[in-house]
Amino acid sequence: MAVSTRPLPTLPVLPDAATEQVLAGGLLPELAYAFGGPFHFVLPDAFDTNLRAMQDALAAAGVDGFVYFAKKANKAALFVERAAAGGAGVDVASAAELREALGHGVRGEHLVVTGPAKDPALLHLAVQHGALIAVDALDELDALVTIALTGRIRSARVLLRVLPPAQPHSRFGLDEAEQATAMERCVQAGDAVRMEGFSFHLSGYALQPRADLAARLVELCLKARVHGLEASRISIGGGLPISYTDADSWHTFLAEQNSGHYHAGKTFHTGDFYPYYSPASGSDALAGLLATRPEGHELPLSSVLKDAGVTLLLEPGRALLHQAGATVFRIQGVKDRDGYQILTVDGTSLSLSEQWFNSEYLPDPILVSQDADGETGTFPASVGAATCLESDMLTWRKIPFPHRPRTGDLLVYPNTAGYQMDSNESPFHDLALPPKVVIDHTDRPRPRWRLDRHFT
Ligand SMILES: *Cc1c(COP(=O)(O)O)cnc(C)c1O
Repeated sequence: MAVSTRPLPTLPVLPDAATEQVLAGGLLPELAYAFGGPFHFVLPDAFDTNLRAMQDALAAAGVDGFVYFAKKANKAALFVERAAAGGAGVDVASAAELREALGHGVRGEHLVVTGPAKDPALLHLAVQHGALIAVDALDELDALVTIALTGRIRSARVLLRVLPPAQPHSRFGLDEAEQATAMERCVQAGDAVRMEGFSFHLSGYALQPRADLAARLVELCLKARVHGLEASRISIGGGLPISYTDADSWHTFLAEQNSGHYHAGKTFHTGDFYPYYSPASGSDALAGLLATRPEGHELPLSSVLKDAGVTLLLEPGRALLHQAGATVFRIQGVKDRDGYQILTVDGTSLSLSEQWFNSEYLPDPILVSQDADGETGTFPASVGAATCLESDMLTWRKIPFPHRPRTGDLLVYPNTAGYQMDSNESPFHDLALPPKVVIDHTDRPRPRWRLDRHFT
């Protein structure tokens, strides 16, 4: 095997006791044998911890707030159940997601319905169940008024979703003229509509633009109240960043990586990578946001909210799922290339979604060798899928494994619960979708496991 002069870049994940306990416990080879294919494991305690930390950050800042789990980030029933148990709601964007959330214990009034041009069936269900609906367009508002008037059940609870001025090309939200029209129509609709406030969802992960737009929405609430509307809450969407790795590893990786470090000389634009390190992560980012002074304000966002009597709603997906699971593949074959190997695993990159966004899931996968006394050293390898597509690679990057990978060994992709597991999954080639295994009691020497849901 050729020896490169400079070591290959790595991106080690931050230590996580629960994941390490699962890796050390010997459970994964047993599960791989039982399922005969790739699988995900999910960790309820991590979700509970993340949720509590966010609720604590709101309380510490003295801000009245409510957390909705953005369901699209993971399809497991578990996380909806944990959200319900932990006093959170769920953000849904389809009738099927709404049914799932209700069926797993979330009350209708604890749902927020987002997404563009919502299906009439979804709007009907949302009104019936008293869910909060983030209105994305004027015709949607009209449809809701009609549903509420003809249904005679109760009024439709709405937020008006705002087109972010800093992202004017977004296809989501109402522009300023539409906001004014929407407010008039809410006033005219009388009891048919309960206008509870405004919402946004920004792409990117920076705090300042979120604080700025949140303060703007507070001002919109004050304006709307003049017209007799309730306007008591704002939703700031998702986008709380999380750190998969430490600052030094991330900056070193970005500085060093080049196309020579990837199979077939593949290049990625570093700007397309998720920011795998952020100075403030999860609930710390939320605390940081609340402490941020919005542009044109003397006081931090927390005070702006409190002074106006506005409740802060947030819809984190990824940040609630930090350290809440991992994905396990079995190496099905090993092939030598010039200076590295290509490992073929028993699944596809559809179970590790980042590849579908011109990007790659960068945290180093962990090799679980069958033979603990195997050869050690540096064994670079890229990871391909068991499909007939040239481009179906789980990892183009040559990972410098510390042991020689062998057929039958396991490859564990850490911290995949947020978006990686199932947002793009499909039974391509008639391969089975990887099941999800819930692992309880990771603090015991022998953790217990169960399936997330039973298969029919
Ligand atoms: C996707 C989405 C979220 C969740 O975003 P994260 O980055 O996972 O926190 C929240 N709200 C809306 C409207 C979304 O589309």
